[in-house]
Amino acid sequence: MTKKEKRIAIIGAGGLGVCTALELSKRGYKVEIFEEHHTPIQKASYANEGKIHVGFIFAMDRSFQTAKKMLDGAIHFMDYIQRWADIDPEECISTPFYYLVHKESLLNAEQLNQHYQKCADYFAELHSKTQKKYLGIFDDLEASLLPRNQMEGIGNPEFIDDVFKTSEYSLEPRYVAQKLTEALMDDPNLTVHLSTKVLGVSEKENGFKIKFEQEGEIYSETFDEVVNTAWNGLLEIDRTMGIEPIGEWSHRYKFGNKILIPLEDSDLPSATMVLGPFGDTVNFRDKGAFCSWYPIGRTGWSTDYRAPEWDSMYSEQQRMKVFKDSFEELKRRIPSLERLNFPIETVDPVGGVILALGNSDVDVEKSRLHDRFEIGLRSFGKYHTIDTGKYTLIPFLAMEVADRVAGKKEAYALS
Ligand SMILES: Cc1cc2nc3c(=O)[nH]c(=O)nc-3n(C[C@H](O)[C@H](O)[C@H](O)COP(=O)(O)OP(=O)(O)OC[C@H]3O[C@@H](n4cnc5c(N)ncnc54)[C@H](O)[C@@H]3O)c2cc1C
Repeated sequence: MTKKEKRIAIIGAGGLGVCTALELSKRGYKVEIFEEHHTPIQKASYANEGKIHVGFIFAMDRSFQTAKKMLDGAIHFMDYIQRWADIDPEECISTPFYYLVHKESLLNAEQLNQHYQKCADYFAELHSKTQKKYLGIFDDLEASLLPRNQMEGIGNPEFIDDVFKTSEYSLEPRYVAQKLTEALMDDPNLTVHLSTKVLGVSEKENGFKIKFEQEGEIYSETFDEVVNTAWNGLLEIDRTMGIEPIGEWSHRYKFGNKILIPLEDSDLPSATMVLGPFGDTVNFRDKGAFCSWYPIGRTGWSTDYRAPEWDSMYSEQQRMKVFKDSFEELKRRIPSLERLNFPIETVDPVGGVILALGNSDVDVEKSRLHDRFEIGLRSFGKYHTIDTGKYTLIPFLAMEVADRVAGKKEAYALS
């Protein structure tokens, strides 16, 4: 069978589905993509904070495997994503992150510092091996503890014990989503079925039958190879193939509030409060701010196979209340937010689903949510299912999936 004859289906036009499709197209394959929403990349890969993790946040994973995984993803992120879309990091990069050590942190500044230096060492190793730069720009990774007299403008000492200045960044995800969507829609090798929900997949003698719903009607089509990247719907679809997750899991709904006004660097710091159920602010310069306070913004929790339809469950008023209450908590900790003026119409309180192994929350020291290394690609013959784990890993995983489809690496049989 030639590349062009092979019938490949991707389920889910989120960040991973679209990057995988674009890479397969680049390698000469034709792909059909099924997306239940009316527009591609409008779910988690749109609502998220865009942080390209360098492992700092995963200090509770003492095995260091999660940090390594994030750094592997981070160092390749820009190089790979630029294969598929015209993305200029300078147009979407945030200000650098400060890490604010909150008073109830699960680890203290000394313990965190040890972990951060380990991340920097592993980055240096990767950089010398690959010659790649973090986000195509940075040769080094840094995290340095600020003297106490310099931290006050950044974090309120009533809540914050210490502050690290780091060289970790976010990329504004809406900009990235738009560029990838344009590339997807322009690609003649890719057919996108929007407003099309996949109900299940079954293995047949001549391939895989995908059953899907379009405008209230049920259809099915057969494909030679299937890639499931449906994130919020991943496990439910896997289940129709008889595939179970590798352990207990949870779906969470988390608000990724945006304030869509142009900002100066000095208007607010990009800040991650560690380590536990705290929050983040991101300064995306002319592309606005992101802010989330976990105890208020993490509104949904489910251990069902498919995440509930949280996007349609909240009224505008409820969403705005989540934003306002979160913002009040953030203001108490990050003093510059007191001075941030914005019309309320510029606030977009969107949310997104987070799938993860583990079903106790991040305030529990032993929670599996502190690890994110048992994620990625599982292949069962020519059915591939991918738990993306993090936005950071999307380009890295898209390349891995394309390699698998191209037969570069052995897939193991469904037993
Ligand atoms: C608020 C928030 C902040 C986050 N911050 C970060 C961060 O800073 N850094 C980071 O690395 N990660 C972050 N994440 C995690 C990150 O967003 C996800 O890991 C990543 O975006 C998942 O990408 P994906 O392509 O797998 O999923 P998605 O982008 O959600 O795409 C999945 C697609 O599948 C479609 N779909 C689902 N079911 C079906 C079906 N049955 N049929 C057809 N289509 C279907 C969906 O509609 C969707 O379009 C955050 C997540 C949230 C919610």
